[in-house]
Order: sequence, then structure tokens, then C-alpha cells
Amino acid sequence: MTVQIPSSMLPSDGRFGSGPSKVRTPQVLALRDAGDPARPVLGTSHRQPPVKDLVRRVRGGLADLFDLPDGYEVVLGNGGSTAFWEVAAASLVRERAQHATFGEFGAKFAAATRRAPFLAAPEVVEAAAGSVAYLTPSDTVDVYATPHNETSTGAMAPVRRPTGTDQLVLTDATSGAGALPVDLRETDVYYFGPQKAFGSDGGLWLALCSPAAIARAAEVEASGGDRWVPEFLSLTTALANSRQDQTLNTPAVGTLVMLADQVEWMLGQGGLEWSSRRCASSAEILYGWAEGCEWASPFVTDPVERSAVVGTIDLDERVDASAVVGHLRDNGVLDVFPYRKLGRNQIRVGMFPSVEPDDVAALTECVEYVVGELT
Ligand SMILES: *Cc1c(COP(=O)(O)O)cnc(C)c1O
Repeated sequence: MTVQIPSSMLPSDGRFGSGPSKVRTPQVLALRDAGDPARPVLGTSHRQPPVKDLVRRVRGGLADLFDLPDGYEVVLGNGGSTAFWEVAAASLVRERAQHATFGEFGAKFAAATRRAPFLAAPEVVEAAAGSVAYLTPSDTVDVYATPHNETSTGAMAPVRRPTGTDQLVLTDATSGAGALPVDLRETDVYYFGPQKAFGSDGGLWLALCSPAAIARAAEVEASGGDRWVPEFLSLTTALANSRQDQTLNTPAVGTLVMLADQVEWMLGQGGLEWSSRRCASSAEILYGWAEGCEWASPFVTDPVERSAVVGTIDLDERVDASAVVGHLRDNGVLDVFPYRKLGRNQIRVGMFPSVEPDDVAALTECVEYVVGELT
């Protein structure tokens, strides 16, 4: 028997996934309306002006949104953030990377540099799921890598250079970019995909690269030796294409249309300051509810490490989280399951800029209702 949640209690939109995440209707309409009848965008060449204009809008919009410092450039390519880990291993790490790992995504990048036969085994600074590992100054590494927001656990880290280093800092901002405040001068590469805060589809990577990162890629790729840098993983090749508002190979044009629409929507609302405040309001609602609830509690114990964009809430042993998630799903409240490998009795809530804070409040009421009906 499915618990029937009263319709007056339901959120206006039931998509709370941590990626792919809620796509706003105007983004979908932008697909229909992209270009004009004389110059359509969908179904036309990515080497011609209509699609190049779209890439130019994305690059320019992101430069505005992130207040791009002098000399930084917006680079993009195909394959998503997972592909970018391999780009970084091939094109940015000289000999050895340090990884801060406190969940699945940080650990996956560490595994990528460990597997690269031309790199030394990485230095790994690890913290238990639910807390944050911090980058630590080291004399033996030439790249520091950390997630901005660890989507698998709902913990976030500040974007900050380790003191006293002039080596590169790489920030996996896949789920943080567009939702959390950032000063890009504190990192050399801030990379992400379009399917989280930007509410588009997956498949692309975008990287905001400092002059030092651009110079490093040129140096590493020219260094020869045992290293093989496939063209697909070459950051300098991606940069050369990006400078012409193109990608090395064919991108998903629809993904670019929805991304451009979202970036311009955020800018129109007040930019990153607006979107990060909105996510922080949603998070306050979610964590405030959990702290006041007898059978729920925030998974991340230190409030400053609690993500303002992906919230994880533990339920105690009296409540079966997977049953709650199932009943919510049957009522159209979607994708609040925890990260599968974490294996906790938990719900996880994507609170990206597209999500209405009022809908997060409605979600908490729906959870209360379902638990009330089940116990
Ligand atoms: C979703 C996610 C990824 C993986 O992104 P893909 O585009 O699917 O490769 C990597 N890192 C973080 C922090 C993520 O949230």
C-alpha cells in the first residue's frame, strides 16, 4: 500500500535529485526556440555561427557569473567531469598530485592519478564520510586536488590555496559550481558539468583555468618522455578549440542550449551571490527541520561543513529510509535516495538554484507525513 500524500502538501516540483537535477521549464522551451526559423540551432553544424554563438554565450556568461580573474579562461570539452579527471592526469600533473578525499568523487580522481603509469603514487589526505579532508602543504606534489562539494556525502570544503604553495590547485566543483560562493583566485582550475546546479544534461566538462594552469598544460604536454597525451585528453587542444567557441569533437547542442539559458537566468536574478544565497536558504530549511526532528539528524556533524547544496539527513533505526524514499517516489517526490555506496539509512536532497526553497520546506512536510503514516 502506497502512502497517499495530500496534494496540498506536495512541492510544486518534485525533483530533488543530486544530478541530473531539476530542469526548469524555460530551459526546455529554450530548446524549442533556439535560434530563429531562418537560423535554427538544433540540427545544425557545430562549426557554424549559430552553434558557435551558443558556445560564446556559455563562455561569456560563465566569465560574468564567476567574475573571472584576469587571464583565466573558460575551457570546455566532451566527457563530463569524469573525463576531466583523465585530462588533468594527462595534461596537468607533472609528477605527483595530492588529493583530499572525503567521499566517492574525490576518491575517484585519486584513483585516476594512481593508475596513470607516468605519475608517482598520489599523496592522499583522507577523512571519513560526513567530514572534510583539507589540502595540506607538501614539498612533493605539484597539483592539489579537492572537491568543492562532495556530492556523495553532502560535505563541502572551502576553496582555498594551501598556504605557501605555488603549485596548482584543482577544484572539482561539479555539484558546487553555481550554487556555492567562490573566489577563483584561490584555485587554478574550477571544473564542473552542466547537469547539477546548471540544470542541463550531462556529457560536457567546463573548466575555468588560471594562466598558471594553462602554462602547466603547455609545459607538461611538450615534456615528452613516457607520457602519452591522447588528443581527447589534451587541455591545450581543448583550449585552442574553446578560444574559437568550439569543442574538439561534436558536443550535445541541446545541453549547451539549456546551459546557456540557465547561466543567463542566474545572471538575471543577481548572479552567484543570488544563487548561493538561495541554496543557503534551502539548506537552512532542511537542516533546521532535521535538527528539530526526533528521528532525523544532519549526517555532517560540523555545521560549517554541511553542504548548502546537497543535504544528507540520517534517519534513526525506527524509520526505514528506503521505504520513505519509495513512498515519496510514488507521490512524485523524486530521487532523495542516499549515495548507494555510502550505505546509510539516509535521505539526500539536491538543493540546486533551480529548486524553490519553499519546495524544500514542502519536502520536509512530506517526509514527516510519510513517516507518520508508516509508524
Ligand atoms: C556528479 C559528479 C561527478 C561526475 O560527473 P560526470 O559528469 O558524471 O562525470 C564528479 N564529481 C562530483 C563532485 C560530482 O558531483
